[in-house]
Amino acid sequence: MVKMYVKKNIVVCIIFIILTVVTTSAQKISNPFGNALIPDMIADASIQLIDGIYYCYATTDGYGKGLETSGPPVVWKSKDFVHWKFDGTYFPSALNQKYWAPSKVVYANNQYYIYPTINGYMYPAVSESPDGPFRLAKGKDEFTKPYAVTSTLLDEPNPEGIDAEVFIDDDGQAYVFWGRHHVAKLHDDMVTVDSDIRVIKTRREGYSEGPIFFKRNGIYYYLYTLGGDEKYQYAYGMSTVSPLGPYTFPEEDIITTTDYETGVFGPGHGSVFSDEKGNYYFTFLEFGRRSTNRQTYVNKMEFNEDGTIRPVKVNLEGVGPLNTVKGRRPLIIEKMEASSVMPPEFIEPMKDTLCRRTEYFIPDFAKDQSNGSRWMADSNDKDAWIVADLGKIRKIRKSEIYFVKPTAGHSYQLEVSTDGKQWMVCKESESVKYCSLHEDNLNGVKVRFVRLRIISGVSGIWEWNIY
Ligand code: CA
Repeated sequence: MVKMYVKKNIVVCIIFIILTVVTTSAQKISNPFGNALIPDMIADASIQLIDGIYYCYATTDGYGKGLETSGPPVVWKSKDFVHWKFDGTYFPSALNQKYWAPSKVVYANNQYYIYPTINGYMYPAVSESPDGPFRLAKGKDEFTKPYAVTSTLLDEPNPEGIDAEVFIDDDGQAYVFWGRHHVAKLHDDMVTVDSDIRVIKTRREGYSEGPIFFKRNGIYYYLYTLGGDEKYQYAYGMSTVSPLGPYTFPEEDIITTTDYETGVFGPGHGSVFSDEKGNYYFTFLEFGRRSTNRQTYVNKMEFNEDGTIRPVKVNLEGVGPLNTVKGRRPLIIEKMEASSVMPPEFIEPMKDTLCRRTEYFIPDFAKDQSNGSRWMADSNDKDAWIVADLGKIRKIRKSEIYFVKPTAGHSYQLEVSTDGKQWMVCKESESVKYCSLHEDNLNGVKVRFVRLRIISGVSGIWEWNIY
């Protein structure tokens, strides 16, 4: 009897093991984050075209601690809207502050102005170039507590207000919009606000941030957010009178919302811009990896004959190149192998239980031409490396690496090999560099394998291109 019982248990156990193996191997290693615009975690992105180059000013995410912190102020730039890079900070005095939602830059008084929210207050900053360096436009160029209202945009004793959006009308009058539906005129100095501060009466009530404002064919568009996290949305109103209103609110006034089919959750704080051909685009952050670990995506924005905005069909694939730029195609990497791989991470939903995502960190994600997926080494791996196998000996001119969390800096070593056994160091960082991408000239060396050893910085890469 006991023997029978044990035998039965063994059979049950074997069936269980087989089922586990089958289901585990059938579990698809997919990338739920699609092709983010930029290979980093960024939010509240303001994108604009300046002299043929796309500029993206944004909050740098991925620094942990939720809303208590942020990464440094950097500006990402691209000629074709596919390849993006930044080099150092554009706003040195704000480097170690909590820097959020920088807005677009506007050109006035022969200078560029930008209005980021720093440590919870909006500040005007100024520079001769959109690349910076920017400095505080009022008072001393430094952030010391208590924050002086002589430097903030609003001059009230408690100058709260976040997420500035500045618009200059055709007649030269500038307006500033900010959270909770506020709007006011900006004086000609571009750094002080008219005392007539208004609150736009919107159709949908409740907390709102990240205003977006633009003018198209004589119509003013005011876009405002609803909710947050996976429930983030954008609604809008229109005015043919003035940026101050009055506004009308179309029946179909929700522009973006969660799309279960395309796997977009909580499309929120972003911007609207148009290209040289007059096409419009909607930029949004996506709930992503919970908390302040968001990425940014761009989709096309279309209008009806009467000027109303069509709900944006949000997806994670993006719009591809907006400009043709001549360049070589990267070599095909046959295989990626790494010193270690971070275990998969299940991302707990916050407000929508249908948001169920697991992020995998496999080496192949460093060569899938997607900015939403990445290879990450295990956190205990103190000597992380990844090898790109080109399948056969190739002539290599250049390596382009897009590290994870590039704003915190990286140093590394590149080695090459013909057989995967004998290695030769061909590049080594002299210092930690705060940029992305990291570009190295490999002078046409003929090899099959290239190995990247990360000396300092986060051990992970979004993408690696070898030419
Ligand atoms: Ca990738």
